[in-house]
Amino acid sequence: MEKIILDNRYEIIEQIGLGGMAKVYKAKDRLLDRFVAIKVLKDQYAEDEEFLKKFNNEAQSAAKLNHVNIVNVYDIGEDLLEGRKIYYIVMEYVEGQTLKDLIDEEGKLSNHDIIDYSVQIAQALKSAHASGIIHRDIKPQNILIDKFGLAKVTDFGIARVSSNATITYTSSILGTVHYISPEQAKGKIVDEKSDLYSLGAVMYEMATGKVPFDADNSVGIAVMHIQDKARPAKELNPDLSDHLNFIIMKLLEKEPGNRFLNATELIDSLENQNFSNKQVLEETARIPIVVPNKEKKKKKKAKKEVTPKSEEAVYVSPTDEEPEEKEKNKSLKIWPLALLALILVGAVYHFMSRPKVDVLEVPTVINLSQEMAVKELEKRGLKANISRTEESDDYDKGKVMKQDPEANTEVKKGTTVNLVISAGREVSVPDLAGLNLTEAEEKLKELGLSIGRTSTEYSDQVEKDLIIDQNPRSSTNLQAGSKVDLIISAGPEEKIENIEVPSLIGMSEEQAASLISQYGLVLRNVDYTESEDVEKGNVISQSISEGTLVAPQSQIDLVISNGKKEKEKDKEDRTNQAKNVDLRLNINNGKDKFNVKIYKLDDNDKRSDILYDQNQTSKDLDESQVLQLNFQAVQNTKFEVLVDDESYGVYTVN
Ligand code: ATP
Ligand code: MG
Repeated sequence: MEKIILDNRYEIIEQIGLGGMAKVYKAKDRLLDRFVAIKVLKDQYAEDEEFLKKFNNEAQSAAKLNHVNIVNVYDIGEDLLEGRKIYYIVMEYVEGQTLKDLIDEEGKLSNHDIIDYSVQIAQALKSAHASGIIHRDIKPQNILIDKFGLAKVTDFGIARVSSNATITYTSSILGTVHYISPEQAKGKIVDEKSDLYSLGAVMYEMATGKVPFDADNSVGIAVMHIQDKARPAKELNPDLSDHLNFIIMKLLEKEPGNRFLNATELIDSLENQNFSNKQVLEETARIPIVVPNKEKKKKKKAKKEVTPKSEEAVYVSPTDEEPEEKEKNKSLKIWPLALLALILVGAVYHFMSRPKVDVLEVPTVINLSQEMAVKELEKRGLKANISRTEESDDYDKGKVMKQDPEANTEVKKGTTVNLVISAGREVSVPDLAGLNLTEAEEKLKELGLSIGRTSTEYSDQVEKDLIIDQNPRSSTNLQAGSKVDLIISAGPEEKIENIEVPSLIGMSEEQAASLISQYGLVLRNVDYTESEDVEKGNVISQSISEGTLVAPQSQIDLVISNGKKEKEKDKEDRTNQAKNVDLRLNINNGKDKFNVKIYKLDDNDKRSDILYDQNQTSKDLDESQVLQLNFQAVQNTKFEVLVDDESYGVYTVN
């Protein structure tokens, strides 16, 4: 295969990755004789001018970043490849794997590794944020871990310069929404705290092997980021240190103000292993105290609350690199002097009146199980008191739903924090029998319940699609949020009762047809044929014989008689037809007048019907004295001739 060389400089070696908007290749930079990674924009983006412009700007600003934990962007280029214009970014080639791959491999990372990687990622963010660049797409796929264990954040390509308006997030560019902040999900302008949230989600995954929120579609996940509380990471990984759990859950706070102030504060917190001591120190630092200069940076949290002007007070130095902080200090400086003095006096009094280690901030234990909340408070030197349980739809049974004092309140060590534990809420299951699914769903929803499993059953009593039965039964007490299983009617079961086929032979066609339908059978074909012994129009045979058991609506064929065959009939007809019989009688009695009678003889040769009775004269005889007679008789008839009532002879018609 022919080598592809971009811009006469970068020789493509192999594809190493595929993302939402680009393909990533390993390439050799012939000029500098080093491996690089080249990200080539997919065609559909290479045709979008608007996108290209943004892409270029962003890549250029990303190229300005230079930090050991950020994948270096070396070059941006365009070239013609097979007649198509392609756009590409040349980056530092990182030999290793993505953090996503690492998590997939290891499941849950150790506390040590979580801290290690998180600090490095936070360092990258700190550096980018200082340049006014927000990443906006922090996710494990965008964090490469090289063979030395260095974490390198890539893809500042889709990040905007932070002052640059709102984010337009389309799933095709952002890819996954598993790590987006609530404000990002709402489409709001985002700041560096949004990256902190995403890092929190990444840390959550490092700690638990799972993303904090999952659903089967992006919108569902985005909504969860906006309104759902993630399960504490420690619940999924008991080996996770409380310290890390606290940090992760704090980063995942919905309200940006409740997260860490910035990446620096996060790094401080991560690097401080003995968190509860650090917490105490930090909280006491809210009160102006004298500290050595080099400590100043570490006491960031102090700078918000303290008042300037006193040499003894510690507050943020005007040289601090964060512009946001400068703003805050500016506003602090314009406070009226008198007020400042008052506050100072109060603060100093406050400081002197209690030992600093006795003051600490109440953590949030909302949504923790009672047991965990108590542990969490006691670890920080606070006491827990369960004051009562209360019904709640919003908090699961057994979880803390209220705390007093509230989170972030400063209290003395040993203070009792009163907790209200959710009793969930018990509702009485409604009777759903006879309702359809939609009605049932509505009824359940009103009570905070929902439909569980459904199954169908035949029913003669309950109309199809209506509910026959439910589990739990009506009037059972159930926690809100529970499900009710339903059995739905499939209508009556079609009973297959066999029918015994009646005999139809010899019936008229009409009779047979009516009997067939009376039995619930169906008359299909009717054939007609001659029959020797079945009268015309009557049933000769049936396709299913008498006594057979068949299913309802079985089809049955009949053969109906057309009467006898033509030939036979003709013969018979001919036989039965009266014929002209010519009879010659030799009369030699010499009489002028005489009487001739012909009787039909029955089977016993007895005279029956009279077939001929005439008085004749000698004139009726021919020259040979023969009388010719003509009468009607059917074939085979036996008859007797009488002349003047005396038997003349017996004959048969043939
Ligand atoms: P999206 O485009 O939605 O951000 P993504 O981050 O997974 O998704 P890319 O950023 O295009 O996609 O990266 C794709 C893959 O290429 C990465 O997962 C990684 O394996 C590899 N990759 C990216 N950049 C480099 C690099 N500089 N060095 C080595 N491999 C890299
Ligand atoms: Mg990427």
